[in-house]
Amino acid sequence: MKVALTDIPAEGKDLSFSDAAAEPQDLGPQVEVVVTAPSAQLRLERVGELVTAKGTYAAELVLACSRCLGPVPLSLEGELDWAFRPLGQEDREEVQLAEDELEVSFYEDGQVDLGQALRDELGLALPMAPLCREDCTGLCPVCGKPVKPGEPCCRRNEVDPRWAKLAQLKK
Ligand SMILES: [Zn+2]
Ligand SMILES: [Zn+2]
Repeated sequence: MKVALTDIPAEGKDLSFSDAAAEPQDLGPQVEVVVTAPSAQLRLERVGELVTAKGTYAAELVLACSRCLGPVPLSLEGELDWAFRPLGQEDREEVQLAEDELEVSFYEDGQVDLGQALRDELGLALPMAPLCREDCTGLCPVCGKPVKPGEPCCRRNEVDPRWAKLAQLKK
């Protein structure tokens, strides 16, 4: 979803879009399924070459639990407050500094890439290590199946190798 500078009138522009082409891997390595495509409702304004976009976004995803890889449904909603400036070839370095300080993004060829900005925003909003439940015990190292709390799975009859060493020392 790109919008051309010339399509933003002096009085501003309301715009909503849905990023139907977004694949799970476009949003983050922990994303398994895009249930409802990321969408945004924005108010665009332009002062000279500076473009601002304020509004809200939403998306429904299924992430993979970082311990057991089980499904973690996630509804994301939030507010957007973006600013874009044109990227000039000559001041790329200077502009990089400004980006860090002012959280300004950049556009090229007179086109602001709102779709990419939304994907970046979602990437930042996603939990790095999602959990299906706070106390997810992960996968059994022996059989690879999810371990249920209180049921030690294959390790039930196994002695932890560290304890086995201790037992030998005692002898
Ligand atoms: Zn889990
Ligand atoms: Zn097991």
